[in-house]
Amino acid sequence: NDPLRGQPALLEVKGNVELKRPLVKASSRLPLSESRLKRGPDQMEDALEPKKKRTRGLDAPTKIATSYPRAPPLTTVPQTTAQKVSKKTGPRCSTAIAAVVKHQKPVPTVAVQKPGTSAVPPMVGGKKPSKRPAWDLRGQLCDLNAELKCCHERTQTLDKENQQLQDQLRDAQQQAKTLGIERGTLEGELARVRAQAEQGQQELKNLSARVLELEARLGTQEGLVQELQKEQLELQEERRQLTSRLEEQERRLQVSEAALSSSRAEVASLQQEAATQAALLAERGERIYGLEMERRRLHNQLQELKGNIRVFCRVRPVLPGEPTPPSGFLLYPSGPGGPSDPPTRLTLSRTDERRGTLSRAPAPTTCHDFSFDRVFPPGSAQDEVFEEISMLVQSALDGYPVCIFAYGQTGSGKTFTMEGGPGGDSQLQGLIPRALRHLFSVVQELSGQGWTYSFVASYVEIYNETVRDLLATGTRKGQGSECEIRRAGPESEELTVTNARYVPVSCEKEVEALLRLAHQNRAVARTAQNERSSRSHSVFQLQISGEHSSRGVQCGARLSFVDLAGSERLDPGLVLGPGERERLRETQAINSSLSTLGLVIMALSNKESHVPYRNSKLTYLLQNSLGGSAKMLMFVNISPLEENASETLNSLRFASKVNQCVIGTAQACRK
Ligand code: ADP
Ligand code: MG
Repeated sequence: NDPLRGQPALLEVKGNVELKRPLVKASSRLPLSESRLKRGPDQMEDALEPKKKRTRGLDAPTKIATSYPRAPPLTTVPQTTAQKVSKKTGPRCSTAIAAVVKHQKPVPTVAVQKPGTSAVPPMVGGKKPSKRPAWDLRGQLCDLNAELKCCHERTQTLDKENQQLQDQLRDAQQQAKTLGIERGTLEGELARVRAQAEQGQQELKNLSARVLELEARLGTQEGLVQELQKEQLELQEERRQLTSRLEEQERRLQVSEAALSSSRAEVASLQQEAATQAALLAERGERIYGLEMERRRLHNQLQELKGNIRVFCRVRPVLPGEPTPPSGFLLYPSGPGGPSDPPTRLTLSRTDERRGTLSRAPAPTTCHDFSFDRVFPPGSAQDEVFEEISMLVQSALDGYPVCIFAYGQTGSGKTFTMEGGPGGDSQLQGLIPRALRHLFSVVQELSGQGWTYSFVASYVEIYNETVRDLLATGTRKGQGSECEIRRAGPESEELTVTNARYVPVSCEKEVEALLRLAHQNRAVARTAQNERSSRSHSVFQLQISGEHSSRGVQCGARLSFVDLAGSERLDPGLVLGPGERERLRETQAINSSLSTLGLVIMALSNKESHVPYRNSKLTYLLQNSLGGSAKMLMFVNISPLEENASETLNSLRFASKVNQCVIGTAQACRK
């Protein structure tokens, strides 16, 4: 009814319905995933790319739509004028105007406002309508009609726009629906993604824990690895050392093997050589043994040729304090070999004072010539004397009995010859210690040929036909408990002295100790009146036992040293007191035993069937060392003094008799 009124109302409705919600804003409220919302504007644009494309088409209309609010009021007609018109004309006037407008042709000068351009007040003919005077109603009506026409055109344009907007709305709704579906899908996807994310986070957590655990284990393992590496380094070093050592050892082994093989070859050749040598040695041993036996035989033969009974004469020097004998009293004429030969002769020149006194003529001198196997003048040393008997000592080792006597008056040097001088001077050592020293050294040599020897010593004295042990010790010492000479066994030829000590000896010192003991025992028995040692026979015996074990050969013999009692006789003209009677008995016993010795030697020499061994203890004890293959040596010790000339002559005569005796096999040779 009222087009003037209706126009603004319509516009207002359109504004309320269509323009209150701009499309751009609506599209910005589309549900988007959180991640998308958080993205920057560029990403957003990318994310929205497909929608943009869709909405681009709407861009122009949207802009058109948005231009509306900024558009000025549809009519440039001043409000006051319109109001004035409507107030003056009322609804009726308005309807009239609308009717005028309806019938008027559209004014071509009114241009349709282009979207985006600012609205300008409607102009008629491009000219600003000028204010019409109030009385110009026609003009005013004309203006109103023009304005109405303009409004009508604008209404049509708006309708068209409205239509377009409705289309757009429909499209937008459709789009919203699609977007809603899409949103639902995306929400589902979002939920799924969230769940996945949660699961992932859980897994991540688990994995982190696992990683931590593994890291810890890795740390441990790394420590272990470091330790192992260190250990490996050490082991490598050790291995290197061992390898070098092994190489060294191998090298040495090779050297040793080479040496071994050469040594083996050497050993083989040496063994061969040793076998040859052994054969040679055996042959030589055989030869040596044969030679030794031959030596023994020849030695014995030599000794027998020298005489199984030999007599040496020894003259002791004049001792300090003794009167010097007249020159020529004892002479030692040289033998057939000249002065270089050892003396064997002795001449004693004796003046018969009584005969000279009676005839008033110068006292005649009688020369007594004696010949012995050897004569030792006063200057002869102990070793010189021993040299002569060492051969006999060898005979004793070879298994021949040997007996060495010292015969002579008291003080002629028998004990000195047998045992030695006083003071233990080695130069003055007598025959007994020297003989034993010689024996021990020879035994050492013979042990190399397979001979073993043992020695047992005994030392007795025979006084007044009683036997006494000079080696007695303890309570028996010096007591002179009687000993008996017995056979060692019923079948045995061997004689032993009961109660006497038989002491095994193996060195010089032991022998010296025994000689000292014997000397002490003699000293105990000495009395003031009776120098018993010179009134008794001392018999030192050494039982020698030898064995050649590999050949089963044994040999044994006795080596005897007999220091005989003084050979001096009592002057028959002396008045005999009780002491002298005893002395006479002693002397008779001595003389008896000495003459028995002479008789035994004679009987042996004459090969008499009966040899009076039993006539004296001395010959009885020595019976195995006299006769047969036994070697006998008699030293006749004489004094150099003229006052002893008578006794000296007696001794020399006795010795000469003995010297004439020849015992054993050598006798045949001599004949
Ligand atoms: P016997 O035993 O015959 O009675 P001794 O051997 O006791 O005689 O000798 C008597 C003394 O003569 C001793 O003092 C002794 O030292 C000494 N004597 C004996 N012979 C010699 C000698 N060849 N050289 C030095 N002194 C000797
Ligand atoms: Mg003596």
